[in-house]
Amino acid sequence: MLIREFNQPVTTLKGVGKQLSLSYEKLSVYTLADLLLLSPRTYEDRLTIKPLGEVNEGEYANTKVKVVEHSYFGGFGKKTLKVTVVDISSSIPTKASLLCFGRNFLERVLTVGKTFYLWGQFNINYKELQSSQFEMTLLNEDGSMPPSFGKLLPIYPLSSSLTQKIIRRDVSSALKLISSFDEELPISLIEKYSLYTIDQAIRNLHFPSSTEAATKAHNTLAFIELFYLLFINRQKSFLKSSKKFTGEFSLSKLQQNFLQSLPFELTVDQKRVLKEISINLKEGGMNRLLQGDVGSGKTLVAWLTALQVIEKNEQVAFMAPTELLARQHAEQAALWLEPFGIRVAFLTGSVVQSRKKLLLEALKEGDIDIIIGTHALFSTDVKFKNLSYIIIDEQHRFGVAQRVSLVKKSRSPDLLLMSATPIPRSLALTLFGDLNISTIKSMPHGRLPVTTYLVANESRERMYKAIGVEFERGHQAYFVYPRIDDQGESTLRDVESMYQFLKKTYPNVPSKLIHSRLPEEQKVEILKEFRENKLAYLVSTSVVEVGIDVPTATCMVIEHAERFGLAALHQLRGRVGRSSLQSYCFLVYEEPLSDEAKKRLMVMKESTDGFFIAEQDLLIRGPGEVTGLKQSGFLKLRFASITNDQELLELSKEAVDAILATDPYLDNHQNKEIRNVLLKAPPFSENHINS
Ligand code: ADP
Ligand code: MG
Repeated sequence: MLIREFNQPVTTLKGVGKQLSLSYEKLSVYTLADLLLLSPRTYEDRLTIKPLGEVNEGEYANTKVKVVEHSYFGGFGKKTLKVTVVDISSSIPTKASLLCFGRNFLERVLTVGKTFYLWGQFNINYKELQSSQFEMTLLNEDGSMPPSFGKLLPIYPLSSSLTQKIIRRDVSSALKLISSFDEELPISLIEKYSLYTIDQAIRNLHFPSSTEAATKAHNTLAFIELFYLLFINRQKSFLKSSKKFTGEFSLSKLQQNFLQSLPFELTVDQKRVLKEISINLKEGGMNRLLQGDVGSGKTLVAWLTALQVIEKNEQVAFMAPTELLARQHAEQAALWLEPFGIRVAFLTGSVVQSRKKLLLEALKEGDIDIIIGTHALFSTDVKFKNLSYIIIDEQHRFGVAQRVSLVKKSRSPDLLLMSATPIPRSLALTLFGDLNISTIKSMPHGRLPVTTYLVANESRERMYKAIGVEFERGHQAYFVYPRIDDQGESTLRDVESMYQFLKKTYPNVPSKLIHSRLPEEQKVEILKEFRENKLAYLVSTSVVEVGIDVPTATCMVIEHAERFGLAALHQLRGRVGRSSLQSYCFLVYEEPLSDEAKKRLMVMKESTDGFFIAEQDLLIRGPGEVTGLKQSGFLKLRFASITNDQELLELSKEAVDAILATDPYLDNHQNKEIRNVLLKAPPFSENHINS
């Protein structure tokens, strides 16, 4: 039987009744399998001798001692026994005091002259080693070890009436009930990656013979977990994309003409990803993420790949997360694509009804080649003649769940997701195992990294001066605040008050404020003026966060930067540094800073690399928060950690890919264990997201 098939309730075990089973439920332990797969948080090392002489403040001793004296302290009828012991396991006879609060009966047990094993946590008080939390067992004369000494003891997570002793007892009785488990990996993998068999792994998880054994048990179980997660994820895409393109790759005539019309050349990375995507479009069944830092030129690549589809008389939909951004893209597309006879349309929620009707008609007739808009593109009344390619800009803004529903809706067109918030590789593999990834690492020629300053709230004068100098050079700035006005409880600086303040700081410098409460047309108008450099600065909320592209803007001021997440800070900073001009980002913060906020600000100061920042974000916040899937219970990994087990993740990916390459349907006898697991007890079936 497979371990997950042992689904008798924990109450099967002697001594486990209603109350304990309720406590177990709080740890998500319902069955014997759950209990055996309950991972200890850590182990207490009662194996390695640690004599009293080597114990520092707060540390544990694990040693043998002899009782030398009894005394009492405290008064008024509340005397407490103090037992003095001396270490006999090392050549240095260090003394220590054991304080027996409420345990004066120990005077009959710990008699003077007797020898014991001692395990306890020690503090140093009045130059004396003291412990009030200790365990002792009489030293056996035959040298054999009592049950709780001389080994590694598992420390489990606890809930209400459970204790370590009870869990240890129950785990060992469960292990006694079960003679052996079916293997979950082919023996070839167990050997290749020096893993334990499942049986050894489970036994060493709970009662390891050494620290190394405990680690190996964990690694084995984490490997199995990651192996199946990746296998399930990757098998699908593997089977889907088996139609490999083998021809010679070349750009179409239209693509070439378009490229010639541009005032610049594609970067090496842009060329490479263009090729990857083009080939994938030829093969069909595309499900690809194009990631590249803000300003690395993803959109241009997207237009180029759209041409390839349009040439076949098929339609393209391009979705952006905000109306502003959609409009900016539509304007750019009109400018660049219409000269080649391509019919571009723009659709958002705010397009007027009469116009919308015409537009939908044209779309259905196939009179529009590419439609650009917000999520309104995918409302039910929108019908395409032959939509075959969907491009989603800034996909991280839509969240994973939304991406899934969107794809399901249409009859499988090719899909390109673009993101400037790179998905760390570990997440990409586990969460989006079916997703292919194209990456742009380099920036267009001549870009300088943005210089970032951390500015304490009270030292903002110099910042205002520096920005004033930029204005004199004809450069522009964004000032971003977390709030629109000063209504409500908060004391945070807000757009409206700071706008008044900045007008005094920079008299006669043209500026406007912009935030989400303004009507759409007004926002568009303001951004147009800013783009045309009629305004020197914008005062705003984070509405400028996404995608806005104004090359002469060189300063980004983010106030209360301590309140923004890393992804948002990186996006905001990406609004500057979009030309060969040196740009600056000022992160103004207010003390006191939380530890996390401090870490975030340091990461921003040290790096402009979106990939590094995404990895740090994952480390600081953890995978649940980063993916926005914390609530859904996704990825309830028992053993593997997405952040700490990167190496195991790579190894299991290697193993999965090797099997998919040779035996994707698991027909071979050598892979019978995998087939068996997937058939009888597939892991993650309760919480796996299908995409
Ligand atoms: P992203 O979407 O990756 O943030 P964009 O596609 O908006 O970046 O490109 C940023 C700016 O760089 C745009 O103004 C674009 O026209 C320009 N650009 C794109 N590719 C190049 C290139 N190879 N050389 C110079 N400028 C480029
Ligand atoms: Mg973009």
